[in-house]
Amino acid sequence: MRRVKGSSVGAAAWIFLSAPVSAQDLTPFVEANAIHTLFHEIGHAVIDQFQLPVIGQEEDAADSFATLEIINAFEDDAKPILIDVASAWLHLDAKTDREDLDFFDEHDLDAQRAYRTICHLYGIDPDANADAAEWADLPDETLDTCTDTAPLAQDSWEMLLQSGVLLGNDEPQTPIDVSYEETSLTQWRSQLMDSGLMDDLAIYAQTSFAWPNPVRFVASECGEANAFYDPQTVTVTLCYEILDDWAIAEVEILSQ
Ligand SMILES: [Zn+2]
Repeated sequence: MRRVKGSSVGAAAWIFLSAPVSAQDLTPFVEANAIHTLFHEIGHAVIDQFQLPVIGQEEDAADSFATLEIINAFEDDAKPILIDVASAWLHLDAKTDREDLDFFDEHDLDAQRAYRTICHLYGIDPDANADAAEWADLPDETLDTCTDTAPLAQDSWEMLLQSGVLLGNDEPQTPIDVSYEETSLTQWRSQLMDSGLMDDLAIYAQTSFAWPNPVRFVASECGEANAFYDPQTVTVTLCYEILDDWAIAEVEILSQ
């Protein structure tokens, strides 16, 4: 079991994720990427529902939220999770032809997202995470800036979350509904359900934030490997297809 506590800045929720025990379970690599992606979409939901100001790209803010919340919630277990996340992005980057790099995308390039993730991990606790920085080959001059930018991002999120976003002790929780839509991708539906991962993150989100509207978490067959937050329906969607993509990436990485 992996212990996960609620939001870094005060919520008292503790949730538990089951460790995979057989080949029929999500691997830690797939779990790690699903965790970061769900936290990323929760970040979008928080920004939207609490009308938080975003200076810069919202995608960067959602990535920072995800990485920092994982660092705070998973404590010592955050490092392997974030290395798996960065590893998936670096693998995607390596598979992309240079001429196909999408500089117009709302997200930064995959390699930038990978390096920023490790930069945050290192910058929050350089002593504990020097090995992760070494794994990612981050140069010394970058490491110097990480020790400034990561705490700045953490302080900025803390300030925003403390302004009426975090659930107060005496405030009622807004229940979060979790559903797993039927799909032809039955393997991924059952593995995701068995992992309890979405349910645990729903508990984290429900007990951490004073949602003004009910939030829904949905696992769905989307026709693409992706995840979304929809502000119209206040729904976080994780597509079954993206689990398959991560599993393929893991096999490819291990075979290198
Ligand atoms: Zn996003």
